[in-house]
Amino acid sequence: MAGLDSAGLRLGVLGGTFDPVHIGHLILAEAAREELALDRLLFVPAGQPWRKAGRDIATAADRLAMLEFAVSDNPAFEVCTIEVEREGPSYTVETLSEIKARSLPAQIFFIVGEDALEDMPNWKEPERIAELAEIVAAPRPGRPSPHETGRITLLRGMPIIGVSATAVRERVRDGRPIRYLVPPAVEDYIRRRQLYISS
Ligand code: ATP
Repeated sequence: MAGLDSAGLRLGVLGGTFDPVHIGHLILAEAAREELALDRLLFVPAGQPWRKAGRDIATAADRLAMLEFAVSDNPAFEVCTIEVEREGPSYTVETLSEIKARSLPAQIFFIVGEDALEDMPNWKEPERIAELAEIVAAPRPGRPSPHETGRITLLRGMPIIGVSATAVRERVRDGRPIRYLVPPAVEDYIRRRQLYISS
């Protein structure tokens, strides 16, 4: 992101744990890129995902490496490391403030799945999040469609993808295939590093 010429830039931000990144994230990101005419989309892995405290997660280095593989063939996608570099819990409001300060006058779109949208009132300073970025919501299976309001835009073209990182981890643990659920390089990485075998 350094040295970004951001005049008129439409910047998408997709935060998450990415433990691991999977096709749900990639299809969501690409649907947002197309529908919102984004110039660039930042994947922002959480350093310490405070909403997932209490369960073991892969190291930030492993989650970052998998993301780098996953985005490498899309010139609009980029991995942004500000949350893993920041000490303490990863709060979205701080991330968006920092991205905004670094890339003024870009217009920022914060992209979330329906589960994250429902949880957002519990996050730190949700009002400020909505001031910093336009909130864009995507459907997830088993959840009612998000309501479009003045402050939330729906990704209408996003197909519903019933894949979660939890399901990928469970399949690895159970010795089942994850082919097509994650990019091939991510699968290779998981196997090589023997991730998720016992979690
Ligand atoms: P876990 O199963 O470990 O909770 P996850 O699959 O939900 O993980 P996260 O990294 O927590 O993945 O998600 C990051 C963002 O991507 C969140 O906004 C989440 O709602 C969204 N997301 C993840 N999977 C999908 C999917 N299949 N469809 C739409 N949005 C998704």
